[in-house]
Amino acid sequence: MSERSSQSVGAVHGLHADTVAVHAGRQDARTAGWHAPPIDLSSTYPLGDLTGAGASLDALAHGAARAPEAVYARLFNPTVDRFEQALAAMEGAEEAVAFASGMAAVTATLLAARQWGDHVVAVRPLYGGTDHLLASQMLGLPVRWADPEAVADVVTKTTALVMVETPANPTLRVVDIAALVQAAGSVPVLVDNTFATPVLQRPLAHGAAMVLHSATKFLGGHGDVVGGVVACDAARAAALRQVRVATGALMHPLAAWLLHRGMPTLGLRVRAQQATARALVERLPTLPGVDAVYYPGLADRASAAVVARQMDGPGAVFAFALSGGFEAARAVTERVRLLTPAVSLGSVDSLIQHPASLTHRVVDPEVRAAHAISGGLLRVSVGLEHVDDLWRDLAQAIEATASKARA
Ligand SMILES: *Cc1c(COP(=O)(O)O)cnc(C)c1O
Repeated sequence: MSERSSQSVGAVHGLHADTVAVHAGRQDARTAGWHAPPIDLSSTYPLGDLTGAGASLDALAHGAARAPEAVYARLFNPTVDRFEQALAAMEGAEEAVAFASGMAAVTATLLAARQWGDHVVAVRPLYGGTDHLLASQMLGLPVRWADPEAVADVVTKTTALVMVETPANPTLRVVDIAALVQAAGSVPVLVDNTFATPVLQRPLAHGAAMVLHSATKFLGGHGDVVGGVVACDAARAAALRQVRVATGALMHPLAAWLLHRGMPTLGLRVRAQQATARALVERLPTLPGVDAVYYPGLADRASAAVVARQMDGPGAVFAFALSGGFEAARAVTERVRLLTPAVSLGSVDSLIQHPASLTHRVVDPEVRAAHAISGGLLRVSVGLEHVDDLWRDLAQAIEATASKARA
């Protein structure tokens, strides 16, 4: 059987998640005769007979996961298929569909959602780009914003989708997925799982219909891949592939190969990064001028209970607010030496950024204010450096900023 017509090799049943991460998408290695999966960079494929090629083209354009002939790279790529199968296995989904970026994944989902209803219900806070795409109605799909508690009152028979991020970017607010699913009734719920990764949270197990990732973040993990992916049932995946074929927001095979290559170490990375984040979060309130620390489960007892119920840990991203406001936040980002002042997250190196100026710049200032995205707020993504080195760097930057402000 040729590589491109291979049957599903993603599902690995009855094994622990760490084992699935190593083997998903490559169970045919022995019969295929390789150890590292090959990369297929073809833009087009030599055709068999025209009738067969036409039938394959029809099937793929209508959203089939695979067909006897790949025909053309916008229709199918076997390297991307492997990553998709691996990610689907990790999320416990039937299928996954990969895109050029996280925002391309959000865009394709919203375009597909136009078949399911006439508006979206969305829970804030969301990543700035997602908030902007929804608020601008650039894709012609109206949005109704709702707090998690109000979703039941806002959804109607014509709601296409309920969208939520948990933990949310940038304040790590957690939402009870099972409760939200119940509130949404028959309307599918999409969870952006970028911050938690399937290592710490599998939203489909709590009733969500779709899971979305910016693969650029923890899934990539090394700051060298841009991508997005949605995991869901086969019918919705077909709708997403149909949009992908039509609009062309493809994941590049090299990106898919790197993402698949990184999958076996995802658990190790996330758990190590999380352990360091926990230690930093514990010490952070002792520093001068640190007003508030945002980390899943810290807000109150109710959020701690949600984290305990639906996550295997709070993750490796936290945020904190400085009493010195924007000037203090700016000074800290300029004083850090080891942490890199940069947007994005989930990389092996630690990153620090100012959401109000950068990732959430496009969000309405009133919405930012309502969700604690203040001038003094900084977001930190913890990497794999030693905790003591990171602590020393953060502490010197925050202490120097506080003493400058006092002087
Ligand atoms: C970064 C991010 C996105 C957008 O992903 P890109 O790969 O940058 O397009 C979407 N959701 C969340 C939670 C993100 O952090």
